[in-house]
Formats: sequence, structure tokens, C-alpha cells
Amino acid sequence: MSDTTEKDILRGGQFLVKETKCEDVFTLEDLNEEQKMMRESTKEFVDRELWAHWERFEKKDYAYTEECMRKAGELGLLSIAVPEAYGGMGMGFVSTMLVCDYISGATGSFSTAFGAHTGIGTMPITLYGTEEQKQKYVPKLATGEWFGAYCLTEPGAGSDANSGKTKAVLSEDGKYYSITGQKMWISNAGFCNMFIVFARIEDDKNITGFIVENDSENGISFGEEEKKLGIHSSSTRQVFFNDTKVPVENMLSERGNGFKIAMNALNVGRIKLAAACLEAQRRVVNEATKYANERIQFKTPIMNFGAIKAKIADMATNAYVDESACYRAAKNIEDRIAIREASGNSHQEAELKGVEEYAIECSILKVAVSEHVQHTTDEGIQVFGGMGFSADTPMESAWRDARISRIYEGTNEINRMLSVGMLVKKAMKGHVDLLGPATAVGEELMGIPSFETPDFSELLAEEKDLIARLKKVFLMVAGSAVQKFGPDLEKHQMLLMAASDILIQIYMAESTILRTEKNAKRFGEEAQATQIAMSKLYLYRAVDIIQQKAKEGIVSFAEGDEQRMMLMGLKRFTKYTNQPNVVELRTQIADKVAADNGYTFD
Ligand SMILES: Cc1cc2nc3c(=O)[nH]c(=O)nc-3n(C[C@H](O)[C@H](O)[C@H](O)COP(=O)(O)OP(=O)(O)OC[C@H]3O[C@@H](n4cnc5c(N)ncnc54)[C@H](O)[C@@H]3O)c2cc1C
Repeated sequence: MSDTTEKDILRGGQFLVKETKCEDVFTLEDLNEEQKMMRESTKEFVDRELWAHWERFEKKDYAYTEECMRKAGELGLLSIAVPEAYGGMGMGFVSTMLVCDYISGATGSFSTAFGAHTGIGTMPITLYGTEEQKQKYVPKLATGEWFGAYCLTEPGAGSDANSGKTKAVLSEDGKYYSITGQKMWISNAGFCNMFIVFARIEDDKNITGFIVENDSENGISFGEEEKKLGIHSSSTRQVFFNDTKVPVENMLSERGNGFKIAMNALNVGRIKLAAACLEAQRRVVNEATKYANERIQFKTPIMNFGAIKAKIADMATNAYVDESACYRAAKNIEDRIAIREASGNSHQEAELKGVEEYAIECSILKVAVSEHVQHTTDEGIQVFGGMGFSADTPMESAWRDARISRIYEGTNEINRMLSVGMLVKKAMKGHVDLLGPATAVGEELMGIPSFETPDFSELLAEEKDLIARLKKVFLMVAGSAVQKFGPDLEKHQMLLMAASDILIQIYMAESTILRTEKNAKRFGEEAQATQIAMSKLYLYRAVDIIQQKAKEGIVSFAEGDEQRMMLMGLKRFTKYTNQPNVVELRTQIADKVAADNGYTFD
């Protein structure tokens, strides 16, 4: 249990308006011995069972995925998040993230199977199930005796998940529901024993969740395995329910609560998906580095070329940034759960509310990390040159496997809109005070700027000052947009996308700088030299993106003097006093990664 108190940790979304001290962020360097051991055993499992048989996953050996899932169950890897009362290890949120992270190193096929089972396939029962439902199903799911799948998507209901046509009709004797409908894109469908199914009762506004056992005698049939771009051994099939009888006691939570269950399961799914793109990235950096160190062209290892160094530096930086942000949010969630439990909430309730609190951060991470892994695998192919295009090297499959992360668990467009939408809602409910800081920024814009030379002599002082100013950019752009459009803001999607990109960059850059600052204080600046360079490089890139997105937004809705004032504000808020030498930073990072022959910052 954590000894953090309510006042010590920020509410979800508050990072934008409050300063976080570096001592208050959790970093990978804070893992305890037990967590480190768990990380090692997960890595060993990946090397032994997954990485060593990587071709089998590419050859669509679905049976091997299932076999590996069983082995993961034997090792206890499926039960990390499951409470002890139901046969699990009941470990904290950070530990559950760790396993999702390190299990992703070899193949997206396995991490998808793992995530669909432990996350969306099991979590709805542990979070919303009755005591009887949990006793009946969760222990089997925790050991891997049974596998779960999650049936939300339908041919006509994807992003618009609440619009599904699958029906649940109560029998005359009131003992069971009869479910009829078509679900598609169902991960683990080929080998699961149980589904979480969402269906509509009568003309209810919202869908309802059910636990449905897989039984071919009960009107359940499957489409063929989908022919997919990537994650070749992740079983993905359509599932047809035809008058499938489900006892009334298998309803999850209450009638009409399905959409809420689906969304809350997705909050957890999103941050875990981000975690599941971390080791995937590190391994790509490792492989690309090894290759670049060995591949000779023009009589020199290609690693010596600046063009390659720039790629390696950016790839390693993305991985470091993503780790920093993922574990920061994971610990916030873990602490929030502990606080809620201490104040009398059941574990179930505490976990639900704890994750929901950080739904904004979950969406931010899902988008940022899924886009980084895509970029990293793409550059990985480029480092390998022609060999990267060959299915005989793991770059090709890593690139294809990475692509799905931008689509499932809510597309990145939906998550971008959600991140800003949820923040505005929180502000309206009074949970995050955006109005006060936004008004202050407005006043600052009208005032005369200070011409004093700031003191940036302390480590990362200028970077932290910039982060504080980037937050003002968001408040300036989003605040004016809310004022201008009010509730109609949601119709201005291009603006929302731009605002969300600003928000994402702020969270990712701030998390990285805070991690590095914390580590520099305890391990010394010299030991953190490369991490300092990565923090500076990422911030530089973030400032670039923010300038571009903010300008796009401002010009779209402000005119004349207002536009000029905001553009001047943007310039002021994104100004460096000491321009970082990005060429030097990239060289420094790449040289360290090359010398270590891989990524050594986790
Ligand atoms: C390999 C794989 C595994 C999957 N596993 C599962 C699973 O186990 N269980 C499950 O239930 N589902 C699963 N899915 C489904 C997945 O969650 C959906 O594909 C996803 O939610 C997107 O829905 P869609 O495919 O219908 O796309 P659509 O919703 O049709 O979206 C198409 C495009 O339009 C955009 N768009 C849609 N609505 C809006 C809007 N309001 N504003 C702006 N842009 C919008 C989207 O961002 C996207 O770019 C899986 C999908 C795949 C491919």
C-alpha cells in the first residue's frame, strides 16, 4: 500500500495547471526488488518462448500463441492484476504495467492475445462482476485454464460503439436472455472459452454487458481468421450469436450499463496498450543499433554516418520519453486506488475510479506511444535498408505489428478528441480549474513582457520554464476556442486535433524532464548525461509541434488584433533563451546507444 495522501497527487488532467515536483513522479528507476525480478522473469519468458520462435508467429501458428498463453498462465503472468481472493497475485498497477511492457518485446501477436485476455477479457468481470461471477470465472481466467475475449465491435458499430445492433431478449420465464447478433474483429476468438458481449435490451439507449460461455451447442459460430496486415498469430475472427441463451445472472453490472463498462475497460486498455508498445520499441532500437554497428558501407559501419545517428537518437529518445510518461501515470493510478481503498472503497470500486480519474492521461499515452512505435519501426526498417524490407528480419513484422496500435482501443482520432473533451468536461465540473489559469494567461498577453534575463543556471531550469510556458499555449488556444465555440467546440474537429497534439506533447515532455531531473539529483548529472540530452531533444521537437499546431488553431478562429496578440504570445511562450544544439544532442545520444550496442536506459 502506498503512503501517498490525497493532497500529494494531482488529479487527472491537473498536470496542465499545476506544477509537479520531480520527487513526486515515479520512474522506472524506482522499481522495487520484487518488480525488478518480475521484469527479469517476463524478459526470460519472452526470450525463451516468443523471440526464439518468432517465425512461428509470422507463419500464423495460432496454436502456438495459445500454447504460449498457457505457459504464461503457468508462470503466473496472467494473474498479476487479479485480486488474491480470486486466485491472482493482486499486484499494484505499476506491476501490471511492467508485465504488459516487457511481454511486448517479441511479437505483437502475443501482446495482443495477452492484452485481450488479461485486460478487456478479464477486467470487466473483476471490475463490475458480482461476487458469484468473480468466484466462477476469474480464477480460471487468472491461471489460463480459460481464456477471455471481448465482443464490442460490430460491422456497423466501430468507433460508435454504443450503436451496436446485437439484441438481448429476456425469456418469458425471466431466466435467461437470448442474444442474437454479429461481432467482428474479436481478438482471441479462435481459442477463448468465454466472451464479454455487449448487446441491447429492447430499445434501451445504452447497451448491456453479459458474460457468455463459448459453447458451439448454444448458437455460437465463427468467421474465418481475418487476413491481417500484421499481428499474424493473433486470432481475430467474427463471432456470430444466434439465439444464444445466457442466464440472467450472467448480466454484468446493471441493464444499460454496458457502454460505461466498455469505456472504463478501454481506459485501462489504453494505458496498458501504451505499455505494450514500450519493449517493442526498445527491441527495435537494439536490433537497429546492432545492425548499424555491424553493417559496413563505404568501408565504415553505417552507425558512423550522421544520417543514421539521427535516427538512432530519435528512436532511443522516443522509447525513453514513453517509459517516463507511462510509469508516471501508472503510479498516479496506483496511488489513487490506494487512497480510495483507504477511505473505504472496495478494491473494485477503487480501481474503477482510480483509472477513470486518469482517463485523459490514458488517452494521451495511447496516442503518443502508438505513434512513436510506428515511427521507430519505420526508421528501424530504414536502418536495415533492403534487409529491413525482407520478411527474414524482424523489422518487417515489427513495422506491420505496430500499425494496429493506432486503431484498436479507440482510434487515435477518437482518443485525441476524448483527451481534450474530457479535460473541458472536468473543468466544467470544477475538478480541474482551467478558467483561472486561462484568464491569467489572457491578462499576461495584454501586459508588457518582462525583459529580464532569466537565471537558467540550474540543470533543466530553462526546459522547466519552457514547459510552464507551453502550458500557457494550450490554455491560450483551448481557452479561446472554448469561449468562441462553447458546446459547439466538439464540431470543430481539426481544432480539437491540434489542441490535443499540444496537450500530448506537454505531458510527454514534462514527464521526461521530471524523470531526468529526479535521477540527476540522486545519481548525479554525469550518470544522466544522455538522459539529459534526450530530455532536451524531445522538448525541442515538442516545441516545434506545439508552435505549428497552435498557429494552425489560432489562425482558424481569431482575426485581426486578437490573432496578432495570440501569435505574439505564442512566440513569447515558445522562445528559447539558449537554443539547444540539436545536432550535438543527437550525436551524443547516438554515440552512447552505439557504444552500449542498444538501449540501456530502462
Ligand atoms: C486486429 C484487430 C483486433 C481488434 N480486436 C477487437 C476486440 O478484441 N474486440 C472488439 O470489440 N473490437 C476489436 N477491434 C475493433 C477495433 O476496436 C475497431 O476497429 C476500432 O474501434 C475502430 O472501429 P472501425 O474499425 O469500425 O472504424 P471506424 O469507426 O469506421 O473508423 C474509421 C475511421 O473514421 C474515424 N472516425 C470514426 N468516427 C469518427 C468521429 N466521430 N470523428 C472523427 N473521426 C472518426 C476513425 O478514427 C477512423 O480513422 C479490433 C480491430 C482490429 C483491426
